[in-house]
Amino acid sequence: MSIIATSVAILKDNYAWLLRDSATGATAIVDPADPAPVIAAIEAAGGRLDLILLTHHHADHVAGTDAVRDRFGAPVVGAAADAHRLPRLDRAVTEADTVPLGAASARVIDTPGHTRGQINFFFADGAVLLSGDTLFSLGCGRLIEGNAAEMFASLEKLKALPDETLVCCGHEYTESNARFALSVAPDNAALRARVAEAAAQRAAGQPTVPSTMGSERAANPFLRAPDVAAFAALRAAKDKF
Ligand code: ZN
Ligand code: FE
Repeated sequence: MSIIATSVAILKDNYAWLLRDSATGATAIVDPADPAPVIAAIEAAGGRLDLILLTHHHADHVAGTDAVRDRFGAPVVGAAADAHRLPRLDRAVTEADTVPLGAASARVIDTPGHTRGQINFFFADGAVLLSGDTLFSLGCGRLIEGNAAEMFASLEKLKALPDETLVCCGHEYTESNARFALSVAPDNAALRARVAEAAAQRAAGQPTVPSTMGSERAANPFLRAPDVAAFAALRAAKDKF
């Protein structure tokens, strides 16, 4: 009885996520930016789609939404704050709202920073976090609209999730994030172990995600910044790296 998350590689380095509630077979897709591979993945999983979840308005996350909705007729859920610039929403949500998928349900977490209206979804059943472009493995999203204080607060909320939480993020950025992370924390053993794991995953042609929140808390420098000032300095350094 839990949510099973499977990555769908799309575009250059994006991931859409296929979610299946093992109790009922209910299925969702997260950030279906490229319709052809997303529709193929849904068909391969049985052709059922109950829900479309959007983390934020950037085209590399939402561009295929209407095509996928037209094909399967599933309702689209996204941030109320960004309803004006998202594809047409069937439900607009905000912090602490609950979004059902079969017998499971996600909690909406407002995570401004990368964009003003960014949201994440957390399924306690299965411990699955859809982190969009807020939290990546060994990195975090660039501050395109929000400021460092907002992003720091967003990451603090995510840090409170259980160790076993699967961090299902929007991009395969782990190897480039690893180079920066090692430059600021070369002696972090957990980081070095995670970098070795990610290198082996890439060498085997596999995704490096999802990682776990426990691993990210131990290895991701952006989750280890003690305060907003340190986080802001780290984010600025990464932008110039
Ligand atoms: Zn983005
Ligand atoms: Fe993105």
